[in-house]
Order: sequence, then C-alpha cells, then structure tokens
Amino acid sequence: MEKKGNILMQKYEVGKLIGQGSFAKVHHARDVKTGRSVAIKIIDKEKIEKVGLMDQIKREISVMRLVQHPNVVQLYEVMASKSKIYFAMEYVRGGELFNKVAKGRLKEDAARRYFQQLIAAVDYCHSRGVYHRDLKPENLLLDESGNLKVSDFGLSAIVESKRHDGLLHTTCGTPAYVAPEVINNRGYDGEKADIWSCGVILYVLLAGFLPFQDPNLMEMYRKICRGDFKCPQWFPPEVRKLLSRILDPNSSSRITVAKLMANPWFKKGFRPSNLIKSGQGQGSTSSSDIVQEEEGVEQEPAPAKLNAFDLISLSSGFDLSGLFEDDHQNSKREAWFTTQKSPDAVVSKLEELATTQSFRIKKKDGGRVKMQGSKEGRKGQLAIDAEIFEVAPSLHMVEVKKTAGDTMEYLKFCDQGLRPTLKDVVWHWQGSAEDLCPQAIQEECVPN
Ligand code: ATP
Ligand code: MG
Repeated sequence: MEKKGNILMQKYEVGKLIGQGSFAKVHHARDVKTGRSVAIKIIDKEKIEKVGLMDQIKREISVMRLVQHPNVVQLYEVMASKSKIYFAMEYVRGGELFNKVAKGRLKEDAARRYFQQLIAAVDYCHSRGVYHRDLKPENLLLDESGNLKVSDFGLSAIVESKRHDGLLHTTCGTPAYVAPEVINNRGYDGEKADIWSCGVILYVLLAGFLPFQDPNLMEMYRKICRGDFKCPQWFPPEVRKLLSRILDPNSSSRITVAKLMANPWFKKGFRPSNLIKSGQGQGSTSSSDIVQEEEGVEQEPAPAKLNAFDLISLSSGFDLSGLFEDDHQNSKREAWFTTQKSPDAVVSKLEELATTQSFRIKKKDGGRVKMQGSKEGRKGQLAIDAEIFEVAPSLHMVEVKKTAGDTMEYLKFCDQGLRPTLKDVVWHWQGSAEDLCPQAIQEECVPN
C-alpha cells in the first residue's frame, strides 16, 4: 500500500526532498502515467491523531478539494497509508517569495502586485469557508511566471496540531506573523487572523524586515499585542494608513477583506489579467470570477465547475481508506455528502426519514440534528448525528455518523433508510461513504 521502491501508491515516482517543515516533508514527484510534476507532502498521522484532530482534517481535506484559484497551490489528491497522509499538490517551481525579499526590499508596484495576489487568494478561500491560519513566507511560493501561489490553504487543522504541540512557538521560531488574539489563545476569527498575517507580509515586502521584532521573545509578543510598529520613511502615506487598519490588535475593529479590497492603494492596477498568467489555473477559475470578487458581487459557485472536479475527486483519486481505520476499530461509522440544496431542505428530509423509521429527532443549533431509534438493538438504541457545514452559499457538506448502537443495524439503516430518502438532496457521497454505500459510489461517481 505504501511506497514500493520510490513509487507511491503505484502512481507517483517520488524524487528529491524539496523542503521540510515542522510537521511534514515535501518531495518532488512525477505522475507515472501523465509525466506531470507534483509536490508530495508527507505527514505522520500519529502527530495529528495525538491531538485528536483527525475528524477536522478529513472535513477540511474534502473542502480543499473544492478550492481552485490561480493563486492557491492546487491540491490534486490525498492518499493515506497506515501511518502517513500524502497530499499530492501542484508543484510550484519558482521557490519562496521571500528568497526575493532576502535580496532586498521590493518596489512599491511589485509589492502591491504580490499583495493583491495574496488577498485575492485569501478572499477566494474565505468565501468558501477555508481559512489559512498560518500565512507566512514559507507558504508563499512563486511559479515560473512570477505569480504568487499560497500553499497549505485549508490545512488549518494541521496548524492547530502544531499549536497544541506548542510548535508555533518553538520549532517555527517566531510568532512574527501571528495575530495577537491567536497568541493570546483567545477564540479567534479565521478571517481576521489571516488579514493580520497579510499585513505583516505586506510590511516585510516593502521594508525588507519585520514590523514586530525583538531579540527578546516576550518583548516581541508585547509589541504584537500592542500593535506597536513603525513604518520606514519610504512607506507612502496610503500604505501607512492601510497598515494601521490591518495591524490593529483589536480584531473586531481590524479591517475586513472586503474593505481592504476597496482601498484605493490596494485597487491600483488590480486586474484579473494580473492574477492569471501561468495558464495553470486558467481553465478552472475564470478571470470573470476575480472581477466579480473585486467588485464585491455575490457569486454563486458554478455547479459545472465544481461538478467535474468533484466527480474526479470522488472516483479513484480520493483514497482516504487508511484514514478511516480507527473508525472501524471504534465501530464509529460516518459518511459525508455534499448538497446543493439548502440546510432547511436537508433537515426536512431528515425529518421525513425520522418519521418513516420511527426515530426521534432533535434539531440543535449550528445545523446539527440528532436522531434516535426507538427499537432496542443488540447494543442499545441506534443514534445518529448529522451536521451541516456551509462550503459556499449554495454548497453544503453534511456529515452523518453513528454515535450509539449496533453497526450492522446502522448499515441496514443507511442502506434502506438514509440513502434512498436523501437521494434527492444528496449531490455526492464522500469519504467513507464507500463503507456505507458501495453501490452509490459505483453508480454516482462515474465522470460523465
Ligand atoms: P511548517 O511546517 O510550519 O508548515 P513549511 O510551510 O516550511 O513550515 P512545509 O509546508 O512542509 O513546511 O513545506 C516545506 C517546504 O517545501 C516549503 O518551505 C517550500 O519551500 C516547499 N514546498 C512546499 N510545497 C511546495 C509545492 N507545492 N511546490 C514546491 N515547493 C513546495
Ligand atoms: Mg508550508
């Protein structure tokens, strides 16, 4: 199942080590069939399981599959073995953006262009409910045409694991890019925390050094938490003003992405053609997408775009079997499906299901539904939780899992109740749905 020689999953020829972070190793690899270069990020499952974030990771991975933007490193597929998770992603050839800054600060126009690309990526991902939480130089790569590509978007559960491990404060050395509310360990808003990091990045591009710096780590924390920084004399007044709105230690008064994108300094020369040069993302995200985002027009995620992509991801590529081993051990079964129907429509289908199956149903806050069977089974009553997550305004993910009762009864329930009743609201079953609905996968996931 794992590497044979240097062939991973009979598909990727794994080559040299490109880089190493605190949680992962990144290798160059080639898709044996197509010859395409990819980067393979390899993460030890143990490190993530240790902090109990596997569920979040699984959810985030499936959301990541729906994210495609010319300034976001594309995730192609995710594979898993007993001990590791492999992310096959777009290989970005131009190195890290900060190799450039290391040679000297950037001119205003060049800095603005990278910043625009960064914010375009951030805005796109945020609008799909994906937050980065670890924006920093190592995650800003350049392609061969000099376009910015943000990596590790959607891997925030992994960032979370690092936080649990205290890694953000130790191995990664510096909290220089981290928002005050994150440092203070308060519950925080992913959007506002990402904006803060973008502000630090803009500062570094223009200055060639960090805004909050001190040989003493405690003093550095203090500066961050007070938003205590000074702009070099060459910073234009508009940039100073903008930075004071971004590097506002109070996250609730900090500028939003929408306001930032309306800022005149930011907007200068901000055109879709600036964003899409590499051709890589061109097919997937049309330039009109970005114009709309720039103008703040609400956009529907185009079903056609997601459709083909999602179908492919659900067929052979999305091999997460290894990730679910623990679930088998605990006989905790779960499945996800995507839906283009409203949460209300999903809930009313679940109510219909509860009625026909004589289940009690309880609706909770935040799109959660609990259902409990009335029959005493071998292991007590069957109980099922469903939770609805928004991916985009017209795309939701629903997680269904058994919380109590006998697995065989649950499987019967899935096969005879859940699957047929929800047929009209389900777009695609995902994740361990193979366990529950092998037929569904074969029937519904053949690209057409
Ligand atoms: P951390 O462990 O804190 O996330 P990191 O971002 O440096 O730090 P990784 O994400 O594991 O760690 O990446 C290691 C290095 O590999 C990066 O610094 C980058 O230079 C390189 N790299 C990552 N992804 C790609 C990619 N898709 N294409 C090319 N190089 C990449
Ligand atoms: Mg990284």
